[in-house]
Amino acid sequence: MILAEPYRIKVVEPIKMTTKKQRKKILEEAGYNLFLVKAEDIYIDLLTDSGTSAMSHYQWAGLMIGDESYAGCRNFFHLKETVKELFGFDHFVPTHQGRPAENILFMLTIRPGDYVPNNMHFDSTRAHVIDKGGVPVDLVIEDAYDIEKEHPFKGNMDVNKLEDFIKKVGRDKIPLVMLTLTNNTGGGQPVSMKNIKEVKSVCERYGMPLFFDAARFAENAYFIKEREEGYKDKSVREIVYEMMSYADGFTMSCKKDGLVNIGGILAMRDEKLFERAKQLLILMEGFPTYGGLAGRDLEALSIGLREVLDEAYLRWRVGQVRYLGEKLRKEGIPIVLPIGGHAVYIDIKRFLPHIPQSQFPDNAFATSLYLEAGIRTAALGSTAFAEKDKETGKVKYPKLELVRLTIPRRVYTNSHMDYVAEAVIRLYKERDKIKGLRIVYEPEIMRHFSARFEPIG
Ligand SMILES: *Cc1c(COP(=O)(O)O)cnc(C)c1O
Repeated sequence: MILAEPYRIKVVEPIKMTTKKQRKKILEEAGYNLFLVKAEDIYIDLLTDSGTSAMSHYQWAGLMIGDESYAGCRNFFHLKETVKELFGFDHFVPTHQGRPAENILFMLTIRPGDYVPNNMHFDSTRAHVIDKGGVPVDLVIEDAYDIEKEHPFKGNMDVNKLEDFIKKVGRDKIPLVMLTLTNNTGGGQPVSMKNIKEVKSVCERYGMPLFFDAARFAENAYFIKEREEGYKDKSVREIVYEMMSYADGFTMSCKKDGLVNIGGILAMRDEKLFERAKQLLILMEGFPTYGGLAGRDLEALSIGLREVLDEAYLRWRVGQVRYLGEKLRKEGIPIVLPIGGHAVYIDIKRFLPHIPQSQFPDNAFATSLYLEAGIRTAALGSTAFAEKDKETGKVKYPKLELVRLTIPRRVYTNSHMDYVAEAVIRLYKERDKIKGLRIVYEPEIMRHFSARFEPIG
C-alpha cells in the first residue's frame, strides 16, 4: 500500500528553481561550500533535519499564547509538565538549541584529560568535549562500520568495549557515558532497549551517570517498536518513557524530534548538578524559565514533543526516508543499510572510488549534486571529520566517507523525493566525470561550516 502523507497542506512556501549556469556561478562564489550558499538559491534542501521542520497549525496557534514574562512564564510550566509526563524528569533547563545544553553539561562534568565514551559522538558534541579538554571516544559496535550489514540496531554501543575501556583508563577518568539516539553520525541508526539497559547496568556497576544525546528519541523509539522483540504492542509513548527511565539525564536538540525550529533541553536527575546547571544557564542563556527561548517557542515545543509521538506521523516519516533510500538502492547506488530514521546516507567511497579522501570526495559529491539539480546535502566524511594530529601533523581520515540526504520533517512530499532520486541516479551514471577538491581556506574548528574549496584540474 502507498504510504501517503498523514496531513494536508494549508500554507505553501514557493521555492526557486535555478539553471545549471546560475548554479555554477553560485558555487564558485560560495567557495564550493554548500553552507555558504544562500538558502534561496536551493530547490530542495537536504542539508539537515535540524530546525527545518514544518510546524502544525496547533503549534502556530501555540505561538499566540506565548507569555513573554521574564520570569515564570506559563509556557515554561506547560513544558515542565510535558517533560515530566513524557520523559519522567523533574529537573531540566530549556536552552536555545542542543549545543548549549552540551556546553553546560560538559562544563560541569569534564576535567582536562577526562574521557567521554559515546556510541558515536555527533560533531558538535565531539567539539564540546574537546573544548573542555576531554577526549571523545566512540564505542559503537563494529558492525556500524560495515556499511551494508543489515543489523537492526546498528547504533548500539559495544558493551565489552565499554568495560575494557573503563578498566584501561580507570573509572575516575570518565565523568559520564553517553548514548546518541539515534546515531546520527553513523547513519541515523537506532539503539535497542536491550543495549540501553546493558549500558546502564555497566554504568551502575561503576557508579557513572548515563546521559542520552536524545535529539531523535521518537524515531529511535519507533524503530524499537518495529524491530525489537517485546515492543510491537507497546505505544511509542510508553517506549520513550521506558528509554528515558534508564537515563540519569539527557541533552536534546529539540530542532529534530521536538518539531520546532529552535530549542533545546538539558535534563538531569541529580539535584546538585541541576542547581549548578541553572547558574551557568543564567550566565550563558537566560533565566531558568526561558533559557534562551521566547515564551512562544516554549509553547510550540511542548506541543511538538507530543505530536512527534503520533504513530501515523512516525510511520510516514520513517517511511518517507525509506522510500527515497529504496529508490536509490534499486538502482545500485551504495547507501548505508539499513536505511536510517532521518536520512539516507550515500557511501561515497564506493560512489566515487577514484577520488582519495585527501580530495574531499564527500564534498565533491555534494557540490556536483547541487550543480546538477539544485539539491543541497551534507558532506559528512573527510570534509567534516578529517583531523590533523597536533604532534605529527599527519592527517587522520574518518573510517566512513558519507553524504547525508537529510529529510526535514513534514516539509517535502514524495514527489520531491522522486526528483531527488532521479538526480542522484543521473549523477551516478556520470560519476567518472566528478573531480576532487582542494582546500583554499580553512578555519581551526568545525571546518565544514566555513572552509572554501576549489575543484582540482
Ligand atoms: C543536532 C544534534 C546536536 C546539536 O544540536 P543543535 O541544536 O544543532 O545545537 C547534538 N547531537 C545530535 C545527535 C544532533 O543531531
